[in-house]
Amino acid sequence: MFARRKTRGPALILAAAVLAGALAGCAGRQVKMETQIFAMDTVMSLAFYGTGSEDALQGTLDGLAETVYDLQDALSATDPDSDIYLLNHADGAETALSPAAVRLLSAALELCAQTEGALDLTAYRAVEARGFTTGEYRAPGPAELAELADHIDYTAVELNGEEGTARLPEGMELDLGSVAKGYAGDLLAARLRDAGVASALLDLGRSSIQAVGSKPDGSPWRVGIQDPAGEDYLAVLEIEDQAVGTSGGYQRYFEQDGTRYWHIIDPATAAPARSGLASVTVVGASGLVCDGLSTALFVMGLEEGADFWRGHSELDVQVIFISDDGSITITPGLSEVFSLAEEQEGREVTVLE
Ligand code: AMP
Ligand code: MG
Repeated sequence: MFARRKTRGPALILAAAVLAGALAGCAGRQVKMETQIFAMDTVMSLAFYGTGSEDALQGTLDGLAETVYDLQDALSATDPDSDIYLLNHADGAETALSPAAVRLLSAALELCAQTEGALDLTAYRAVEARGFTTGEYRAPGPAELAELADHIDYTAVELNGEEGTARLPEGMELDLGSVAKGYAGDLLAARLRDAGVASALLDLGRSSIQAVGSKPDGSPWRVGIQDPAGEDYLAVLEIEDQAVGTSGGYQRYFEQDGTRYWHIIDPATAAPARSGLASVTVVGASGLVCDGLSTALFVMGLEEGADFWRGHSELDVQVIFISDDGSITITPGLSEVFSLAEEQEGREVTVLE
């Protein structure tokens, strides 16, 4: 789900170059460039360290914002001009997709298959039915839920990559909200690396973080892991050249009659996924994979998620599962880079085998 606005001015107004102790004209000095933009329904903080002329650095920074806005224009499920909106409202007809939409849809459908439908892009109507796109929240009754669940099936999405077209059965809609921020992180990191940048931290709305290299002093980036049950950080994760994706019911929800309903849907029932997990964080090389898998593992729950992780070593990811009771389970690759925040040291942390 993304914002409807397409104005590009504010990003450039917000864009601020911070000359981090650099003397003007002193070539070779690392300059910190950073900006905040509102895109994909969230505030993103993009920061990198680079060398070169002020104009070139500013051009690189502006290019990051443009890349995100272009993606948003193609992928937003709520913008009536976007590729995805047109696909969703084509009444079963074939529609054209931009190359970026084809690439992301194709990779995301592959993740749907790998996760055996725990990730299912066609859960979108169940998200809309609860008012997450309008703010008019409601909990559908059993008959409506059954009808919604009948129209969740990613295998019915017809994607023709060569032609650059796709088609959905009537009554089905999809969205790329589960993977778009992670994918945006991948694209921005590639742009920065192409521009010779060796140090960047891109916060694509807290749920997706992308690091390029390490901090300028060579130490790892430190990323906070949110306590799903509170306001504070629960833990700190050290990362270098990696992406981090987090999914949790606490990120977007409403309450009705004492029950909390969140935005992550169990494709089998069309209801919010209640798997005993409060959040899942995935760390790996690809933002797209981390983002998609965090959503999928949240749906699966701890036991099934742990089995999935053991069975998919080719994905080369590490995972933090935080359960509803506050207990934490991490995969062994994180032992050295995961630490509990101060005041959280009493928490139980189990390392998976
Ligand atoms: P994330 O915050 O990355 O976990 O993605 C959640 C978003 O993806 C929601 O806001 C929905 O638009 C969409 N979504 C919800 N449930 C699913 C699901 N099971 N598979 C794929 N996308 C989903
Ligand atoms: Mg996701």
